[in-house]
Amino acid sequence: MKMKSINPDKVNLIEQIKKGKDFHGHLGPFLVAGIKMGNLALKELNSTGYTDLKVEVETGTTPPISCLIDGIQISTGCTLGKGNILVKNKGKTKATFIKDKKKLEIELRAKILSLIKKENEDVEKLAEKVVKLSEDELFLYSTY
Ligand SMILES: [Zn+2]
Repeated sequence: MKMKSINPDKVNLIEQIKKGKDFHGHLGPFLVAGIKMGNLALKELNSTGYTDLKVEVETGTTPPISCLIDGIQISTGCTLGKGNILVKNKGKTKATFIKDKKKLEIELRAKILSLIKKENEDVEKLAEKVVKLSEDELFLYSTY
């Protein structure tokens, strides 16, 4: 059996968002943030996704922050079904990506989190904002 692999340099964000919206059922800022988190992890860890990576997500399973999980599944190919994504119930918009012995922690910046959590904002508009922000604007990340 041949597994699919992802070339992190040839990722198309718009296609991923379409796929994410189909899979998840709606477009929201945490879905997009999760997609971008996964893309960053593949690049930083030189990963081709699907099988060479494990993820521990700290959101828990309560939306909206848990929507991050679906975004990560879309962009990394790590899935609940394959057992290489683990969800911890810590209520944090943070994930740790593990490849071999290298770990990369990515957390949504507090500033972005409060922007997203603003009430009365249309979630699709917030998602668009997240699309436009750079990885450095969105995340704090470090390898160890
Ligand atoms: Zn959602």
